[in-house]
Amino acid sequence: MRMMRREAKGRGTHSGLRGSEARGLIVRLIRVFEANSDFLASQGWVVSDARSFSWWGGLESPDEVAISSFLVQLTRWETVAEVMKRLRAQGIASIEAIAKLSVEELDRAIINVNFHRTKARRLKAFAEEAMRSGGLLGLVSPANEARLLGIEGIGIETAKSMLLFIANAPVFPPSKYSQVVLSRLIGLQLGLRDVEELVEDAVSGDVYALKMIHAGLASVGKAYCSKRSPKCGECPLRGICSFPKRRNEEPGPGIA
Ligand code: SF4
Repeated sequence: MRMMRREAKGRGTHSGLRGSEARGLIVRLIRVFEANSDFLASQGWVVSDARSFSWWGGLESPDEVAISSFLVQLTRWETVAEVMKRLRAQGIASIEAIAKLSVEELDRAIINVNFHRTKARRLKAFAEEAMRSGGLLGLVSPANEARLLGIEGIGIETAKSMLLFIANAPVFPPSKYSQVVLSRLIGLQLGLRDVEELVEDAVSGDVYALKMIHAGLASVGKAYCSKRSPKCGECPLRGICSFPKRRNEEPGPGIA
């Protein structure tokens, strides 16, 4: 975790978090998120079995998860869910069907999402690449991570999210939300790579834990833990988070 640095003298250390403390933190987080599954659902995450595709907004197939992972970028989940319903009704909520559409046809089908023209072009290119690989699971596999990252519209968070939620690979998608929330929870300023390593090391390949931690941190980050004005009093993590106490004790702004 080369980018991790102490946020305040005397608090946790890198080595202290890699063993039992990190595992203990993950256990506490999972307990809180399981007790607040309705809140996660309100943010678009459906707590399910480890290998279910429903985690991703209650969608029904790996193809739908892949399609929506393009559509959701810079777009509200509620809008994406409506578009997915329409694609399903038209019989085109699959990678094979998307690959056969023209960009113009796909653009019309997803017109309600932001940047629909760009997304239509990128999604069609992704679908064609998947079909050249023998289907979605031929492309979305841990061995193809670098190839995924070479596709337009797929950054590290989207690539790892696809690997976790489509291929059930034991990886953690690092995001700005998880970076901010975890940093505040433990009182250390973490980089994205730190977050990824901390969680992956602590869960030892447990796909259920990886999905739950990603869904929970994303939900808390979006609903409560904004950079400028976190709503700690309403947050489900307030009982285990170090930030509210430090904010009261330390003058000046908290960590980013
Ligand atoms: S208690 Fe506050 S700082 Fe901690 S995760 Fe919740 S909103 Fe963020």
